[in-house]
Amino acid sequence: MNILSTDIDGTIFESATDAEIFAAGWAELSGSLGNTILIYNTGRSAESVKELIGSTALPSPNLLICDVGTTIYSNKINETDWQTHLIPPQWDRSRIDDIVINWSPDIERQPARCQSEAKISFYWHDAALESRENLSQKLSKESLPHQLIYSSNKDFDILPPNGGKGGALQWACESLGYSVSDVVVAGDSGNDSAMFNLLGVQRIVPANAHEDLLLAIKDQPTYTASGACASGVIEGLQHFWQDSCVGH
Ligand SMILES: [Mg+2]
Repeated sequence: MNILSTDIDGTIFESATDAEIFAAGWAELSGSLGNTILIYNTGRSAESVKELIGSTALPSPNLLICDVGTTIYSNKINETDWQTHLIPPQWDRSRIDDIVINWSPDIERQPARCQSEAKISFYWHDAALESRENLSQKLSKESLPHQLIYSSNKDFDILPPNGGKGGALQWACESLGYSVSDVVVAGDSGNDSAMFNLLGVQRIVPANAHEDLLLAIKDQPTYTASGACASGVIEGLQHFWQDSCVGH
């Protein structure tokens, strides 16, 4: 089985042209390989992904992981099972929100549409690693389970420990009987690192990837594409998958 779990923005989509490049490349690969599974793993909401698919050439995925690995959409997945796995009994959204918003005047809440029970989202521009680590220690001292995700030097999400693009992908693979070693991941920024750090996956970064992702995955063997965005992802997929087309 050939499974791609890819971020959307900056990875396969920046413009209509990227969407066309990805769609054409994906159609060709899945046509020649058969047995391909496409997973979008994005910070966007499901609604926003559906709008994007409706207005660009991007193909519909087999599985959709949205809201930075806090929601999973597939007719083969029971959303209640996922939410039970995701949200621990000690999860205290309002206390975390309260502590974080008072942590620094530079932290600002994202709009209500970006928030959910399992996703507390802020903007925090140029947040130093040390300051984020201190905040994490404070939450731990208060016995508040959490996971901090910082991306694109501004997006600051707090999720339950089992969430995130990596946790959601792993849980979905287990639930659907997919082997993580059949998965290729692609992404361009910090919130993608959780996918890249799953044991056994193969990894693609397009040429335009942000420094925060590159630093977080520096010890992981990764295919660094010469192409940017969608052309880089297709280039990486050809690298990992094309060999298996030959002679089989
Ligand atoms: Mg991205």
